[in-house]
Amino acid sequence: MTASTEGPGTPSRPGDSDALTMSREAMEELVRLVSTRIMERMEGLSADQPWRGADREALEPLLREPPPEEGRDPREVVERVVRDVLPVAARVDHPRFFAFVPSSATWPGVMADFLAAGFNTFQGTWLGSGGPSQLELVVVDWVREWLGYPEGAGGLFTSGGSAASLDALVVAREEAGAPERPVVYMGDQSHSALIRAARIVGVRPERIRRVSSDGRFRVRVDDLARMIREDREAGLTPVAICANAGATNTGAVDPLEELADLAAREGIWLHVDAAYGGFAVLTGRGRALLRGIERADSVALDAHKWLFQPFEAGCLMVKDVRRLERTFSIRPEYLQDIELGDQHVNFADRGLQLTRSFRALKVWMSIQTFGMKAFRGAVARGMELADRAEEFIRAAPDLELLSEASLGVVCFRVNPAGKSLDEAALEALNESAQDRVIAGGKAMMSSTRLNGVYSLRLCILNHTTTWDDVRETLEAVIEAGASM
Ligand SMILES: *Cc1c(COP(=O)(O)O)cnc(C)c1O
Repeated sequence: MTASTEGPGTPSRPGDSDALTMSREAMEELVRLVSTRIMERMEGLSADQPWRGADREALEPLLREPPPEEGRDPREVVERVVRDVLPVAARVDHPRFFAFVPSSATWPGVMADFLAAGFNTFQGTWLGSGGPSQLELVVVDWVREWLGYPEGAGGLFTSGGSAASLDALVVAREEAGAPERPVVYMGDQSHSALIRAARIVGVRPERIRRVSSDGRFRVRVDDLARMIREDREAGLTPVAICANAGATNTGAVDPLEELADLAAREGIWLHVDAAYGGFAVLTGRGRALLRGIERADSVALDAHKWLFQPFEAGCLMVKDVRRLERTFSIRPEYLQDIELGDQHVNFADRGLQLTRSFRALKVWMSIQTFGMKAFRGAVARGMELADRAEEFIRAAPDLELLSEASLGVVCFRVNPAGKSLDEAALEALNESAQDRVIAGGKAMMSSTRLNGVYSLRLCILNHTTTWDDVRETLEAVIEAGASM
């Protein structure tokens, strides 16, 4: 075993004094070990619990130590991480992980991250990465077509939806003339990432307007129009309207066409947060639900959610990509060599990051491998499973539906037939039912509040999840509720 006899830092070439290089044999051995451990995890996933947590007190003694002065056997380092660190976490790709937003990566996507790290791609300038930049242009153009955006639209891959929305609000602010007293509008169902983005671009917290929702958790456009009028009268300057295309709570989609009309009339930037639901446009049904998204000035998406990629894979699309580049392009002296002409996009000119990893590769590799048909089918299936969950909930005497299935999300609670419990009792009952299901290790789900009502929530978008997984989870909830 090369690794143990020569030590981790053994130079690959004799006479080389580099203590940070490994021999080819040691590297290959490590690759085999790592891939074996990943395979074991994948094969055992469904039988394993979907979540394992530990408190600080338990983890401190296990992991606290100064950095070692001398290196250790790299195999032991890997084994330790696989034993003590990585398993103490949510398995967000577990078929019965329905909490928050699950993520189930495809294997070619995982391999793409490995390749991109191994080739150490610097995806910031065309000079630094011509091939990868061309490929990112191609994948961005696929997303453009999926959204129904025109030719002049473009964008980039980002760490996630938060970064995509932040970049979008920077453009919106600049396009509004970087006003002194900016206001941003969003629904009460909008994601915290949008509030954070608005704060970062310099909008005071009291000028981040939250618009109330209708009975289906969609922004009330009349209220929004009135707020805009009042703010203008008060001397404030609207910078952006942020709409949901799949709110995290309920999967609700704001009335995008009406919002686009309002934004056009008022001359305000319309940003659509489609981090959750955006890739539903791949299906006919999702396309219909998200009609109007192509009229937005910008759209944030998350390929690590409904496009089955490993973290991190967000995407920002801007209808007029020149506006994006106008906002972010800066040419310091030390980058004077990178100017290769308009045709040669420097992705650093489209967002916050100069040094960027090659995120488009994972999307490209998994689509090349499986084809679009497979992706469309997987997205459609998430929606179908949520529909079936809704039917099941409606038919179960001890469950109450709190929001209809939308884009893979369904909200409900235990409400035992014939017991007529008050709200406080129902909340206590549901909290304990949820705790019990999680403690049972069978499934993982999270709760939320809908108009103040404590609600259980299933978010179903894992491509490996089956109806049995969903049904067994709902049955576990009923059982947990009945045993109290
Ligand atoms: C996940 C999500 C975000 C944040 O995206 P990150 O990838 O976590 O940065 C924003 N908005 C919505 C609706 C989301 O679901």
